[in-house]
Amino acid sequence: MKKYLSIPLVTAVLLLFNSCATNPVTGKKDINFVSEDQEVAMGVQADPQIVAQFGLYQNPKLQNFIQEKGQQMAAISHRSNLKYTFRIVDSPVLNAFAVPGGYVYFTRGIMAHFNSEAQFAGVLGHEIGHITARHSAQQQSKATLAQVVLMGTMIASPTIAQYGDVLSQGAGLMFLKFGRDDERQSDELGVEYSTKIGYDASHMADFFQTLQRQGAESGQEELPTFLSSHPNPGDRYNTVHQLADQWKQKTGATNLKEGRDSYLRMIDGIIYGEDPKQGFVENNIFYHPELKFQFPTPAGWNVQNTPQQVQMAPKDGKALMFLRLAQGTSLEAAGQQMLQQNQLQAIESKSVTVNGLPALAIISQPAPQQQQQQAQQQQQQQQQQPVQLLTYLIQYGGNIYNITGVTTAQDFNTYFQTFSGVAQNFRQLTDQEKINRKPEVVHIKTVKSATTLRQALKNYNIPDNRLEEMAILNGMQLTDQLPANTLFKVVEK
Ligand SMILES: [Zn+2]
Repeated sequence: MKKYLSIPLVTAVLLLFNSCATNPVTGKKDINFVSEDQEVAMGVQADPQIVAQFGLYQNPKLQNFIQEKGQQMAAISHRSNLKYTFRIVDSPVLNAFAVPGGYVYFTRGIMAHFNSEAQFAGVLGHEIGHITARHSAQQQSKATLAQVVLMGTMIASPTIAQYGDVLSQGAGLMFLKFGRDDERQSDELGVEYSTKIGYDASHMADFFQTLQRQGAESGQEELPTFLSSHPNPGDRYNTVHQLADQWKQKTGATNLKEGRDSYLRMIDGIIYGEDPKQGFVENNIFYHPELKFQFPTPAGWNVQNTPQQVQMAPKDGKALMFLRLAQGTSLEAAGQQMLQQNQLQAIESKSVTVNGLPALAIISQPAPQQQQQQAQQQQQQQQQQPVQLLTYLIQYGGNIYNITGVTTAQDFNTYFQTFSGVAQNFRQLTDQEKINRKPEVVHIKTVKSATTLRQALKNYNIPDNRLEEMAILNGMQLTDQLPANTLFKVVEK
């Protein structure tokens, strides 16, 4: 959650119209295409939402690099006529994604994990490939978006999920899934495009291994996003190696570049993992150093922090909580607006104080007409489950915070204590150590004399429980021998 953002996002609708057009990559007639104008319109609509959702990573050197390589690659692509935009968004997750019309996004998380310009270029080509081959992203329902947005948590009921996704459409675009054939084609285009701008595309295959190791390390539930949103098309590693050889021959290119040292020097100092100034969780407490508040997070729940909101859900997805900035100049006005916007009616409402802060507690349920509409919408899906919400509006530091818990009416009593426990323990953050918390950053070091990666990391006091994580970050094994003068990454405060 970032302090300057409280604007609700306009819904991004990825409507896919049917028309007939020629595929720029295959040259064949194809159905299922939106027109180019419609594609561009989608991108123009989505881009400000994505930027608002994640924020841009403030690093001119890296933003220039992706612009420069992106434009160079776009120019040799099958659709050089489009106007392309390339951005690095301020997110720690490992992902890259494309939106129709020429918009490509990389996270700072994936930028930290590449180990060469060639790896970066391969993934860049893959994403541009989704655009040039006009892959139509599979449509996802609003409910699905909400499910995916809270990573690792499936919100059990679409009626609960709908309260969670109000502000998350931009995030949803990050998780659009393409079919396996589209992914295979994009891999090949990634190889083609990166070879054509002078990179050795075989290194792209190494990056798939990094992703897979990262997935294994963090467990099935937290697959790196790029893997979970990009279904693995079979033996990607070997296929990409073969394709790289083929394109090397086809283009007659010699001296294809890896760009390892230049890439590593460029990312020296990149933020790694969460940036605490945007909020962080420690020992089941969420701290926001800039807005100076804290509240407890229920034990065992997943927590997801985005610029607009903090969302939390239990592993079984039977409830959802969020904290957002509320709109309105007074608690009463904020309460009215919250009810109206979500078509809710109050069952009970009372003024309270939360750790000395003026607040309003509201129990609500969907207004009758809303229930009817929902029932109609979901007739085919499943039986309508009525929901109930507990909302605390809390006035603090010039803002009004909305902390809401939502679950089915049936489960409401079960979760009531959890919901109120979170809201009633919202308080001012005064702990200077938390307020001044610095992020971890990647620093590039040089091996003085030949040694193993393990020893090189230990020389920089990397604790044992983080050695494997650092090996993955370096795209190496701990037992790998590093000759003198090899560059490698360590993570430091
Ligand atoms: Zn893809």
